[in-house]
Amino acid sequence: MFIPMFTSRLFWKPFVYFSILITLVSLIGGYTTSKWQNDQLKEQLRARLRDTAISLEDVARKSLVSGDFAHVQDIIQKINAQTKVRITVVAEDGTVYADSDKDPQVMENHAGREEIIKASQNSEGDSERFSDTLQIGMVYYAFRIEHQGEILGYVRSALNTSAINDQIADIQLRIVKLVFIVVILGLLMTGIVISRMTRPVVQLIEEARELTSAQLGKTVEHGFDDEISELSRLLNELSSALADRMAQLEQNHHELLTVLEGMDEGVIAVDENERIRFANEAVCEMFDLDLQRDQGRPIWEVIRFQMVETVINQARKTSEHFRGEMELLGPPVRFLALDASSIPTQEKDASGIIIVVHDITEVRRLENMRRDFVANVSHELKTPLASIQAYAETLIDGALEDQDNNRNFLNRIVEQSERLHLLIQDLLSIARVESSTQTTEYSVVNVTEVVEKCIQYHQPRAKKKSISLEVNSPQGVAIYGEPEGIRQILDNLVDNAIKYTPENGTVSVDVQTQEKQVILKVNDSGIGISEEHLQRIFERFYRVDKARSRELGGTGLGLSIVKHLVNAFGGTIEVTSNPDQGTSFIVTLPRAEAGQPTVPTDS
Ligand code: ADP
Repeated sequence: MFIPMFTSRLFWKPFVYFSILITLVSLIGGYTTSKWQNDQLKEQLRARLRDTAISLEDVARKSLVSGDFAHVQDIIQKINAQTKVRITVVAEDGTVYADSDKDPQVMENHAGREEIIKASQNSEGDSERFSDTLQIGMVYYAFRIEHQGEILGYVRSALNTSAINDQIADIQLRIVKLVFIVVILGLLMTGIVISRMTRPVVQLIEEARELTSAQLGKTVEHGFDDEISELSRLLNELSSALADRMAQLEQNHHELLTVLEGMDEGVIAVDENERIRFANEAVCEMFDLDLQRDQGRPIWEVIRFQMVETVINQARKTSEHFRGEMELLGPPVRFLALDASSIPTQEKDASGIIIVVHDITEVRRLENMRRDFVANVSHELKTPLASIQAYAETLIDGALEDQDNNRNFLNRIVEQSERLHLLIQDLLSIARVESSTQTTEYSVVNVTEVVEKCIQYHQPRAKKKSISLEVNSPQGVAIYGEPEGIRQILDNLVDNAIKYTPENGTVSVDVQTQEKQVILKVNDSGIGISEEHLQRIFERFYRVDKARSRELGGTGLGLSIVKHLVNAFGGTIEVTSNPDQGTSFIVTLPRAEAGQPTVPTDS
């Protein structure tokens, strides 16, 4: 792992502080040492000058008392030759009597010299200054010579400062070098120590950053045996625990999304500002949404239906589940039920809302169908009943005695009773088919036998109308179903074919087999059905010509029973027709496996 140590503030901050500290301490140390050395040297110099001056006290006193300076001049020149110390004997008034370096005759009065003034007051004095006489920097020391309590003069010793200045410069240079080395070493050591101290912390920071940037589960070994290592271990544990949690959360999220996306119901969630947070595929399809485009947009900007606003507001106001219904103008027209409930949050007024949208179009359709069916049944039952009642009342009111009509009226009553009977039978059939689709156990049925029996049954009626009724079927064709149901299918289709075929026409039942299917075709050369009615003839009570159907004894339920039965057997029914030329009903049913035992068809 790349550790950006030298870009880390954690490193640079203490490093800069310590560097400044080390440099300051080194400079102060160097300066103090240098100054101390300087003072030491000067002190040594002063001691040497003092010793020299004091050693000449007696000689100088004698000369000053006697006024003979030749001897002292000789001595100081010798000392000067050996020690380079310049020695001057000065009278109390400042007159120079002897000097080791220069002719005293040409030397000016020294009463004003700093060291002489100091010595006149304190018995000794020193000064450091530029010598006007020798034109070089000098250190002076003056010692007062007294005789019997009277000041006679001064012995002054002096040394050129250039020698010690060179020495001082040399020492200073060494100290500067030393300070430089100390600073460099100090910085290096500081850098190493701080980097060692901060590296694990920087590593930890880096790790923590990786945790936040979702590289969870990653672990780092620091190789240190201290608290940082412990912290790192804890961080690693936290990282893997978080990684597990995240994986679990992601899986839950994924599962939830899969469930939500797989739902037929639409689900849409909005936040406290009514901005869309989530919408599943079903809701996107219903309202023509695109989640990528519309996520984050206010719902009222995308779905412009008042009911959506209403359910959101109501759910928010009451904090309870609220239901509303609305119509989506198609095509096709769809009816939707919206169930809105608030998503509980900490803040009471800032809750999000989740809306579940149910498509209730089918429920509505079924409700309407049921309502229509009940109305139709009532109407269909009322008509023959009203006729029976009317004929019976007419008979009671005197027609019973009317020999010409009474029999006719009774026949009508019987006719209408038969109609009622047929209607009730068909209604019972529908009820039976609808309730038995899931419970009836199917078996193998010999369809050839059923067809032949059906043809035999209808032959007399066909003959009456001079209709040729034929069957074309190979022997032993078997399908998987229920014998009574197959019989009903064929019965209804053949009955209709004879009913709607004029005299001298033809009706045929063709049975064909395919690998997995059996095709039953009921063809007639009858009145046919025009295009606009073809799609609706399987609806309950739908009749192309109501009066004609009634007259022929139809109930309008036959084809709807047929369709139900065919579907229950896992088959399909189609119709092709040309008005005035004829109609063909084509029923396709699953073929039974060869060799399976068949069920008797007259059961
Ligand atoms: P119905 O009892 O009136 O015959 P069905 O449900 O059997 O009722 O048929 C519905 C309608 O379909 C009939 O009223 C009739 O108009 C039409 N239809 C059915 N079969 C035929 C056919 N073979 N030829 C012409 N029209 C038919």
